[in-house]
Amino acid sequence: MKQSYDIVIVGSGIGGLSTLLYLTESPIYKAGNLSIALIVKGALDETNTNWAQGGVAAVHALGDNFDKHIQDTMIAGAFMNNQKIVEKVIKAAPSVMMDLINWGTIFDKNEENDFDLAKEGGHSDARVWHKEDKTGEAIQAALISKLNDLQQVDVLEYGSLIAVNKVEETTFNLQVYDLAHSSFINLSCHKLVLATGGLGMLYEKTTNQKVATADGIFIAKQLGATIENISFIQFHPTGLFQNGNISFLISEALRGAGGILRNEKGEAFMANYDSRLDLAPRDIVSRAIHKEISKQHLNFVYLDVTNLTSSILNTHFPTIKAACKHRLGIDIEKEYIPVVPTQHYSCGGVKVDEYGETTVAGLFAIGEIASTGLHGANRLASNSLLEAISFAKFATTSLTKKIEVKRTSNHELILPTIKKIDKAAIQPIMSTYAGIVKSNLGLMEAKKSLLALKDAAIAESEFNIDHFEATGLLEVALMIIEDALCQKINKGVFYNVDLT
Ligand SMILES: Cc1cc2nc3c(=O)[nH]c(=O)nc-3n(C[C@H](O)[C@H](O)[C@H](O)COP(=O)(O)OP(=O)(O)OC[C@H]3O[C@@H](n4cnc5c(N)ncnc54)[C@H](O)[C@@H]3O)c2cc1C
Repeated sequence: MKQSYDIVIVGSGIGGLSTLLYLTESPIYKAGNLSIALIVKGALDETNTNWAQGGVAAVHALGDNFDKHIQDTMIAGAFMNNQKIVEKVIKAAPSVMMDLINWGTIFDKNEENDFDLAKEGGHSDARVWHKEDKTGEAIQAALISKLNDLQQVDVLEYGSLIAVNKVEETTFNLQVYDLAHSSFINLSCHKLVLATGGLGMLYEKTTNQKVATADGIFIAKQLGATIENISFIQFHPTGLFQNGNISFLISEALRGAGGILRNEKGEAFMANYDSRLDLAPRDIVSRAIHKEISKQHLNFVYLDVTNLTSSILNTHFPTIKAACKHRLGIDIEKEYIPVVPTQHYSCGGVKVDEYGETTVAGLFAIGEIASTGLHGANRLASNSLLEAISFAKFATTSLTKKIEVKRTSNHELILPTIKKIDKAAIQPIMSTYAGIVKSNLGLMEAKKSLLALKDAAIAESEFNIDHFEATGLLEVALMIIEDALCQKINKGVFYNVDLT
């Protein structure tokens, strides 16, 4: 690694890697005048992106149009979305799909040799581009394979960004913990892109990967960036229930193909909750399941896909079929799948403008970490991969704008105080009090318990990566509780029984 770069990108999911690839297509990079480093705290493919199943939403089918996709996005978001952003992203969608394809992503095609589009919950038309039921893996592999061609990019795997100070108007000083060598690396950059993903590790049941520890939100907040709507957390209706835990995501696309949710008595209960039945937006389906589970004191409900043909299950959902067989011994052609809602996605996050820049000049947030205004109070299925790549594209112009650099030799870093906090102690608090259904009393209880954890924790003299992550998680948990307590009405994913 060098000591200084023009741009440092943190994260190798679709947010980080597509930002990198768009930058490498810019004239300034091609002229050899842009130095870039990519820093990733795990292996390159240890991301939520790699696990995305359903796909990417973009208008393509005959009969579909931008207005319909815009309207679906606004309805799902309870009209809390920024309409200008919704329009911008949805109109950019077909072109970013071409970029993904040009970078090597292969999407499934139908018998007419056109793209095989799926219909998911909340979508009024089939517009989800997919690769079987493992679209994320296809995208992740394509993006990683492009890295081999890049000469001016330094890549550091197993390097966790742990501290950032802004020392001059144009310089960020970074400290990275090298997990492979248990040592520290100091470097600086003029523009910093946080593409660190979500916050799933705050919850006991989550579809997220272990890297989703909200580090970027914690760091951005310390730099003074505005965080917004952080209590708008989406719960996916159908996590695979296995021995009290969530082991796997059962994609919405199965309900899109005709799958039906049933309670213990075998009743198709969605008719009691919404006219769109099993394809209602995720917040509605998750709350309906939550109600069925509480009403009948169950641990889970069922997803019935026995009405789908063998051929559909084998061609479109081979991974899910194999996972159910392997993990639970269930043959989904004949048996119901036990499912339960699970933490899935952060709709809010670090506030950015239409070019992905945060309220701190030079600091960008791309992907799930960001609050762009696209999702409003709830994300429409398959709009998040789209959001990440679109904003990566929109950010390119701002990122490549010439910077009048004031060289600085100041590499001094003010490190955050890391406390010895047990990550596992945060999850039950958040799961109990800040889940699908909240209450004022519960939120106050959560705040009390989180503050007690913070007060009891002792500062550490030696750096410990687990405690760094736990310190950040605790701070982000408190942000969520504070944001939840400030909400005045229920909308989208946000539901507090004490509000209307
Ligand atoms: C099971 C599952 C299925 C999904 N299915 C879909 C779908 O079908 N369609 C859709 O649109 N969305 C889907 N989503 C959501 C979507 O996959 C994510 O929102 C998106 O992939 C996030 O991309 P990202 O680049 O922001 O973050 P990620 O892909 O999670 O990448 C985060 C990166 O940041 C790095 N990182 C984090 N902290 C640090 C640090 N301190 N220092 C260095 N590096 C760090 C990580 O190592 C990782 O490389 C799904 C999510 C899950 C979990």
